This record gives sequence, C-alpha cells and structure tokens, in this order.
Amino acid sequence: MILLDGKETALKVKNTIKEAVTKHKGNGQRVPNLIAVLVGDNKASLSYVKSKVKACDMVGFDSSLIHLETIITEKQLLDLVQKLNNDTAVDGYIVQLPLPKHIDENKILLAINPAKDVDGFHPINIGKLALNLDTIIPATPYGIITLLQEYNIETTSKNVVVIGRSNIVGRPMSILLSQNKPYGNATVTLAHSRTKNLKEITQKADIIIAAIGKAHFITADMIKENAVIIDVGINSIPDASRKRGYRLVGDVDFANVSQKVSFITPVPGGVGPMTIAMLLKNTLHVYEKRIGMSIS
Ligand code: NAD
Repeated sequence: MILLDGKETALKVKNTIKEAVTKHKGNGQRVPNLIAVLVGDNKASLSYVKSKVKACDMVGFDSSLIHLETIITEKQLLDLVQKLNNDTAVDGYIVQLPLPKHIDENKILLAINPAKDVDGFHPINIGKLALNLDTIIPATPYGIITLLQEYNIETTSKNVVVIGRSNIVGRPMSILLSQNKPYGNATVTLAHSRTKNLKEITQKADIIIAAIGKAHFITADMIKENAVIIDVGINSIPDASRKRGYRLVGDVDFANVSQKVSFITPVPGGVGPMTIAMLLKNTLHVYEKRIGMSIS
C-alpha cells in the first residue's frame, strides 16, 4: 500500500507557485492578491480560511481575511462582493461556505465576478468545466487530479465511483474524470444518498472517491483488492486522549481499508492540503491572465 502524500505534493505545487511569483516580482510586477471573506464564527470555517491566508504568505501572495459578523445582511454581503469585483488590486477572492441561513448562497455565488472566482463555483465556470473549456477548476477535485497525476495513477478506462454529489466536490469530480483528456477518460458512477446497493457498486470500483461527510463510512468489505482510495471527508470524532477532546478522520475506515488497497490518502494530510494548494494555483492563473503573462 502506498500513501498518497497530499502534504508533500501540495508543497511541490506551492514551491512552483512561489517560483512564479518571484519571477513576476523580478519583472517588476505586483504580486497576486487573494481575499478570503468569512461570515460568522463557524470554528471549522475560521480554521480553513486561516490556513488559506497562511498558505498565501508562504508563496508570496498578498492576502487578507475579511471577517464579518453573522448578523450581516445579504445586501451588505452583496455590496462587499461588488466592491471586490470592482477592486483592481484584487485578483481573486473566496466567500467561505456555508453562509448563515438568512443569506442565499446562490445569490452570493452568482454575484461573484467569474474571472475572480478562484473557488470555481460560479455557474459560468462550472458550465465551462462541463464543456471542457479553459476554466477555473474547483480546488478539491483539481487537487485530487493533481495527486493522481503525481503518483501516475492512470484513470483511462477505469471504473471510478465518486460518492457524494455536492457542487464543490462530487459533481465537478465526476465531470473531470469523465472528460476526454489525460486523467479523465474514466467510466464514472456518481453515487449519493439515494443510491441503492452501494456496496455492490463500490466493490467493482478501481478508484473510489469518498466525499460524504460520514466518519468511517467506507469499510473494507466495500472495496476490491488493490483499489485506489481517495478520502475527501473531514469528520470530527470524540477522542478523550487528545487535549482538544476530538480528532479528525475521513469517510474511510482507514485502519482496515488500507490493508487491502494499492493507494490511499490519509486524513489529515491527503486531500486537504491539496485543496489549499490548488486554490493558490487558481489565484496565480487568474492573476497571470489579468497581467497578461504566464511563466511556466
Ligand atoms: P455535502 O456535505 O454537501 O454532501 C454530502 C454528499 O454525500 C451528498 O451529495 C449526499 O448525497 C452524499 N451522501 C450522504 N449520505 C450518503 C450515503 N449514505 N450514501 C451515499 N452517499 C451519501 O458534501 P461535501 O461538501 O462535498 O463534503 C463532503 C465531505 O468532504 C465533508 O466531510 C467535508 O468536510 C469534506 N470536504 C473536504 C474537503 C477537503 O479539502 N478535504 C473539501 C470539501 C469538503
């Protein structure tokens, strides 16, 4: 069994980005600027956005966190989105989800300028993805493809089962893997909460991508020998031996599943770091488009 090391691979991606930023600076350009908007005090969201801002520092981007109170109105958030759309010093920004219930997430996502939508969630960007056009690829699926690439895990003609149909992970993942291009060309099954006989489906999978949000949901009896397992889930479970009283686990029963597989991602240290690295890559991409040059 080989561990798919997301931390190490993400570091490689970030180093490449850092080099590109240094070259742009050397050419007299400003550096890329990414803004993260967080509404409310969801602890997990705060921790995610802080890691994103920290990662920006590491690669030499300008970045800042706009942290707003939960009571902000939808109109006030839409005004901020407009301001960021019009701010020429901002290359890209993210509005961290989930938003408080009184704010319509779709309204906010639709208001984001697609050219600055570094999460790749805007319908224009998702539409381009579906049509295999140049676009901003949502960071988590992009990170998973990059990880498969890094370990030369072929997807052509493979049976891939993606479990979870969210707009940010499962659905774009299924689109990418079925595209007619390298690290696509798979036969993709998209399973979800209404799927019947999931075990029969997963047992036939060469590659399983689990994005469900249920701790230890994928068990060893659900997979075939030598399958490749990508665990997207981040679930907190009680753990009295930890100072904070909990630990993070994936959607996969790692201890048992890892005995049977050829490759598997750990949680933490698998898909999570890749997501952040690809957000930075998306930001570099939109920045280079704006300044009209790319260094590769
Ligand atoms: P979500 O929470 O929006 O949806 C969960 C999906 O799981 C749904 O599509 C649902 O149909 C499916 N599902 C639920 N029960 C099921 C069942 N019994 N059988 C089959 N399918 C079932 O999904 P999300 O936002 O994609 O998040 C999924 C998990 O991935 C969460 O744990 C989240 O924290 C994590 N996540 C991790 C990263 C990362 O960078 N590692 C990024 C995004 C999300």
